[in-house]
Amino acid sequence: MIVHLLRNWRPNRLRPQGFRLAHERPRLIAKQNGICPVPSPPCPKSPLVNDGKVTHIDHVETVNAFLDKVLQGELTFDEAYLQLWDDSNLRAVHHGCNYDRNVGRSRVAAP
Ligand SMILES: [Zn+2]
Repeated sequence: MIVHLLRNWRPNRLRPQGFRLAHERPRLIAKQNGICPVPSPPCPKSPLVNDGKVTHIDHVETVNAFLDKVLQGELTFDEAYLQLWDDSNLRAVHHGCNYDRNVGRSRVAAP
């Protein structure tokens, strides 16, 4: 339940400027010079493009990591939320790279 809240809480509730993926994505891509930071493989290492279907916003420190801190009493929910969505914890990655990391398995390379 807390995981759901961390992920889906109205993003602009706590961020003063609001957080819009469509706006943040190109900014993060530019900041990274179009490079996906996931180690290769499974990353195809193609340049990141500004399309929500193929480029996702990834949390460097994961939602689950912050959930643990909330459950351990190290952070309040609001503190965890702010750090989760802080610029320093966000990066643009390929859709596939993000998926692989979250499910903890690597993809079989396409022939
Ligand atoms: Zn990648």
